[in-house]
Amino acid sequence: TPGIRPLVAGNWKMNGTSASLNELRTIGNGFMSGLDTETEAVVCVPATLLAHAAEILSRTPVRVGGEDCHPKESGAYTGRISAEMLKDAGASHVIVGHSECRADLGEDDALVQAKASAAWRAGLVAIICIGETRAEREAGTTLEVLSRQVAGSVPPSATAANTIIAYEPVWAIGTGLTPTAADVAEAHAHIRAKLVELLGDAAARMRILYGGSVKPSNAAELLGIDNVDGALVGGASLKAADFLGIAEAY
Ligand code: PEP
Repeated sequence: TPGIRPLVAGNWKMNGTSASLNELRTIGNGFMSGLDTETEAVVCVPATLLAHAAEILSRTPVRVGGEDCHPKESGAYTGRISAEMLKDAGASHVIVGHSECRADLGEDDALVQAKASAAWRAGLVAIICIGETRAEREAGTTLEVLSRQVAGSVPPSATAANTIIAYEPVWAIGTGLTPTAADVAEAHAHIRAKLVELLGDAAARMRILYGGSVKPSNAAELLGIDNVDGALVGGASLKAADFLGIAEAY
């Protein structure tokens, strides 16, 4: 989208130990040594790696993020992690409402919205994930689902500075399947229109990332589509060469 600097965001999910930090070193070095790209980059890593990752990337333009947060700042929530804790560990971003959290943990739109607000409270940028399931796509309800998720998951005071939307068709995540370029264009235009309806003109500059089986070989096509302002990358973000290859699509 004109006037929007793209963002390539990685999502390591439940992958990575200290041995994996070498991939982050390579990613950081790639951005430091003349990688031919216009894009910003953030890698969202497991909380166990966050402080290490932030240290490794501290002298590079690559930022680090968390993969989820609790809506509360602190308290009796065993095993959970607050946005403030992520910030303290060096995060600048946090993913909220990933389809794996929506499905595995039963998260609804209201909870996702609360998590996005928590991210801002801590000074983090919220990456809010939405996307239809295969059944919803086959039933022809994709655009309805996206409208409902945008209205329910994005806090009404969201701005282009504190919020990024990630459109991730659930059936495209980790499957190697991707929608057609026309379907991606339709979904992103619909999300853009819904954001502008809810948030006003400020949403014209909000980034809308595409996620779902992005890899170096399909990045240029997917990232060249109207209203696609970057990518959220799962599997391919675990390998520095693949992540850098996707970034080079810009
Ligand atoms: C994701 O989980 O956000 C994702 C897009 O995964 P993958 O790239 O592996 O499909």
